[in-house]
Amino acid sequence: MGRLFFITLEGQIYRCKHCHTHLGLMDDIMSKSFHSSHGKAYLFAKIVNVTVGEKEERLMLTGLHTVVDIFCVGCGSLVGWKYEAAYEKIQKYKEGKFVLERYQVLGPNGNGYIPAQVPQALSDTDNTDNTDEG
Ligand SMILES: [Zn+2]
Repeated sequence: MGRLFFITLEGQIYRCKHCHTHLGLMDDIMSKSFHSSHGKAYLFAKIVNVTVGEKEERLMLTGLHTVVDIFCVGCGSLVGWKYEAAYEKIQKYKEGKFVLERYQVLGPNGNGYIPAQVPQALSDTDNTDNTDEG
């Protein structure tokens, strides 16, 4: 078995919310306007302390991309994905870049992120008769 190396970042750090392994720096964020099926996601120029999965073709809102899932080396959680290749010219800037799922990481202030859309299965409150305009 190989030894795991943990890289320690300094600055405004995004960490794995499960094991607090350092993953990326605020300075390396290229865009905060990404979305995944779980909600917000951030595009990073550089990510550390992750392992990658199998390459696969994935059709996203912005077109077909070759991506690999990325996993935290500390706990093995799926934390996002990396763009290996983009087919649309306008999307080429994403090649070699990483996306972190916002709900899987803790921000520099230690705050978590609650996805806007709570999966139906987790909602057991009976408010179907209320029309809450608030
Ligand atoms: Zn972790």
